Amino acid sequence: MDIKSLYLDELVIEMNKLDQPAFRAKQIYKWIHKKLVGSYDDMTNLPKQLRNILNEHYPLTVLKAADSLVSEKDGTVKYLFRLNDDRVIESVLMKYHHGNSVCISSQVGCRMGCTFCASTIGGKERDLTASEMLDQIYRIQTISGERVSNVVVMGTGEPLDNYNNLVRFIRILSDSGGLNISARNITVSTCGIPDKIRVLADEELPITLALSLHAPNNEIRKKLMPIARQYELSVVMEAVKYYYERTGRRLTFEYCLTEGINDEEEHAKELSQLLKGYNCHVNLIPVNPIKERTFIKSNSNKIQKFKNILEKYRINVTIRREMGSDINAACGQLRKSHLDQSSK
Ligand code: SAH
Repeated sequence: MDIKSLYLDELVIEMNKLDQPAFRAKQIYKWIHKKLVGSYDDMTNLPKQLRNILNEHYPLTVLKAADSLVSEKDGTVKYLFRLNDDRVIESVLMKYHHGNSVCISSQVGCRMGCTFCASTIGGKERDLTASEMLDQIYRIQTISGERVSNVVVMGTGEPLDNYNNLVRFIRILSDSGGLNISARNITVSTCGIPDKIRVLADEELPITLALSLHAPNNEIRKKLMPIARQYELSVVMEAVKYYYERTGRRLTFEYCLTEGINDEEEHAKELSQLLKGYNCHVNLIPVNPIKERTFIKSNSNKIQKFKNILEKYRINVTIRREMGSDINAACGQLRKSHLDQSSK
């Protein structure tokens, strides 16, 4: 029984089974999700006997920090966490003027196969549980002493390929009895799985949806993202339109600029046409080169030009600030280098 993944009402049922009153469930939930303690022994208002039972039958998921790297440029911290089965994942703490943001992983590895991404090289090992997603944030807040106000599910993994755990994670994270991070401050980034986008829209969670677009048409998208062979771009665009209609949340489109592939003027114009009529924001990301691939980052003049064209068409656009570029903070790179090291 993974107690940290339970909703409060489910925990009440568990405590019932142990002949414990409902208020015990509330106390435990608060220790786990608000006070973020890492052990039952710290739950000082519980009777010793109950703590013993919990220790034995309800193991508490707590990630162990195996490594961390601090950027000297901007204070970004990258954490490598060890899971109970000894697998490793990574998470990133980014400090902005408007507050601290944590980028979490949703799976161990990834099976989506995007050609420029380091996280997908070893394939997917397994999904993360809701508790393992939550604990990335809990441990970072505890270790760093920094309050986390924004969460982006943009680390390793495809969150919509781990749908049920993702939704459970979001509900607990935004619960007022827990860390109470507003759903409005949570962003989920997806490579674009249309049926899952529609189901997510129907949950009526006011989170921000970010679509990894990376191309103005399906021809180019197919070269970068295998998922584009499965779903036509028009189908994905219909799904995100539905998401907007259901939630009223402005959409984010991520567009990774890669020299000679998707960064020409004509691509910017085509992208502007594609996004016409969408209430959206475009995030231009200079591709972060990984050593296993030959992609080259577009130069800054070209990026600026690309941005200017979108603006001419009145599209909201920003160039993503590159955080922690000195510490391997691009998707999956710290984990990958750790795995490379340990297999030597
Ligand atoms: N699977 C989800 C979330 C994880 S990837 C998704 O596809 O959105 C998070 C974002 O980082 C995606 O937009 C992804 O395309 C981008 N990304 C991956 N590798 C990158 C790299 N080397 N440089 C720049 N962005 C990258």
